[in-house]
Amino acid sequence: MSTNILFAAKPSRGQGCREPLTRALNDAGVAFDLRTEFAPEQVDYIIYAPNSELRDFTPFTKLKAVLNLWAGVEAVIGNPTLKVPLARMVDHGLTQGMVEWVCGHVLRHHLGMDAHILNQNGQWNPSTPPLAQNRRVCILGLGELGRACALALSGIGFDVTGWSRSARSIDGLTCLHGPDGFDAALRGAEIAVLLLPDTPATTNLLNAKTLAAMPRGAFLINPGRGALIEDEALLAALDSGQIAHATLDVFRTEPLPSDHPYWAHPRVTVTPHIASETRPEHSSLTIAENVRRGEAGEPFLHLVDRNLGY
Ligand code: NAP
Repeated sequence: MSTNILFAAKPSRGQGCREPLTRALNDAGVAFDLRTEFAPEQVDYIIYAPNSELRDFTPFTKLKAVLNLWAGVEAVIGNPTLKVPLARMVDHGLTQGMVEWVCGHVLRHHLGMDAHILNQNGQWNPSTPPLAQNRRVCILGLGELGRACALALSGIGFDVTGWSRSARSIDGLTCLHGPDGFDAALRGAEIAVLLLPDTPATTNLLNAKTLAAMPRGAFLINPGRGALIEDEALLAALDSGQIAHATLDVFRTEPLPSDHPYWAHPRVTVTPHIASETRPEHSSLTIAENVRRGEAGEPFLHLVDRNLGY
């Protein structure tokens, strides 16, 4: 008997996924039937994008797991009809994409690239940035993505501190954790990168008080989630010069409304949630491995902790 897998995502997402998924499931040795429609009571696994129309998991009576296509799960984790294990997306492409995006934007601010690319105005105005070893970068969140970004930046030579909920020890990084470590992490954050999940404990973590604790003229880079930042507080900190520039990829409302003050603010760069995309050739491997595990009675990879919210 084949394993029935429902692909529940926007149709635009599905088009590029069928072939790599089919290949990965075949390679994993799973006998499967992959469709975008099934009678709910026949479905074994759901490959899920939280912006799909599927909201009620109740009719899926033999469902074994929901396999999220995204790393972030805030839009599905609170769904009271979801009773089966929920796995989130962790894959090489997602991690590598984030490393490249974060390193690019950290280097932009570190080197002061805007001065030479955008604002030269015919003026010969040389300025020398410090070396990376003299620039303190703080990565808030040391999970799959934060850890990889921290190590890449440390590899370039930056003085990198990371902050997480639980204690971590990573060669080459200063690791801080918990509420006590947060103040010290912020104090050293000349460039801060937010790679935390959106949970009740992280909402508005960057607010008037915590932004004021950063070094004056710090840079903020947020590829995590919009709700991590209290927007009015950030706008005030940008206006006062406390924060020199914010590069924001994620927002409370997406797409960012056209009248939002971030669009016009001279010290804000808006990118349209493109820091790292789920790429089918990589995400399919994670999904196929989890289906294989489910069918073999082995533990799923990358399970979400419902109590922690990530
Ligand atoms: P992850 O592996 O779950 O790591 C999350 C990190 O945040 C962990 O280090 C965790 O601490 C820390 N954390 C969670 N709650 C905390 C708290 N209350 N205080 C301090 N630290 C806390 O997640 P990931 O795969 O790295 O992804 C991070 C986020 O990136 C996702 O949730 C998603 O929102 C975002 N994302 C954005 C894009 C994009 O394109 N913009 C793409 C992918 C992901 P512990 O280490 O102690 O658990």
